[in-house]
Amino acid sequence: MKIWLDGELVDESQAKISVFDHGLLYGDGVFEGLRFYHRRVFRLEQHIDRLIDSAKAILLNLPWTHEEICRATCETVKANGLDDGYIRLVVTRGRGELGLNPYLCPKPSMFIIASTITLYPEEKYREGMALATCATRRPAPAALMPQVKSLNYLNNVMAKVEAIQAGALEGVMLNEQGYVAECTGDNIFLIRKGVLYTPPVSDGSLDGITRQVILELAPQLGIQAVEKSITRYDIFTADEVFLTGSAAEVIPASSLDRRVIGDGRMGPWTGKFMEAFRELTRTTGAPID
Ligand code: PMP
Repeated sequence: MKIWLDGELVDESQAKISVFDHGLLYGDGVFEGLRFYHRRVFRLEQHIDRLIDSAKAILLNLPWTHEEICRATCETVKANGLDDGYIRLVVTRGRGELGLNPYLCPKPSMFIIASTITLYPEEKYREGMALATCATRRPAPAALMPQVKSLNYLNNVMAKVEAIQAGALEGVMLNEQGYVAECTGDNIFLIRKGVLYTPPVSDGSLDGITRQVILELAPQLGIQAVEKSITRYDIFTADEVFLTGSAAEVIPASSLDRRVIGDGRMGPWTGKFMEAFRELTRTTGAPID
């Protein structure tokens, strides 16, 4: 496997980061997870926009332009000869002194991995997934800005563990006020009486690219989309619930905390969104060459 590392495509065995890199020492850095389908990177520009915004929000000056990052991403996919897969793009604060001060790290590092990913088992895309409410909360914006896709994922990792221990594949994370923010690595949508609902980003979610795609598709599919605060009550009483993410794509949820959602099967609107989303992945994206 070839890895893009600081401007060069190197063999996996040569792709190394210093133990003094603050990305490793303090989780000081940002990342993106993208998908490519049929040798086209899905929503490439939007992902790189978000990466640049995440970096800006933590005062990480990127020495690469938007265009250079897009080109490096496509080059990495091409070098690995894959048609479909997942891209992990990571920018670290770089090598520095021990101690938090990021101003002592002269140069950020960027690496790009193009590989494959299977987040959830195939059958869950037909049957739906079990969800569990996590005890671990999304951090408040004043603690760790949830819109920054940073290398600090420990709260999501712990929340994921709680979901798995509760016998679920994904966990619902609440914010400090007890409203649903999102899942550990996915955004959440519900349908009730023919209206689509999702929490506003201000309730503590990442501004998911797949979430944005769903909000664009809603009017085309003839369903009203409303961004409003939701609680577990809204999930328990929903007709349909589905999750979205670059890795997960669109996946139905069948239960929360062992309570069946709707009739426990993939609902008609979820099916329509899955199909419309798949169509976009088949027909759009930035060509890698
Ligand atoms: N929320 C969190 C916490 C995430 O890490 C992700 C990405 N894995 C998402 C939501 C979904 O975002 P996107 O659609 O941009 O992949």
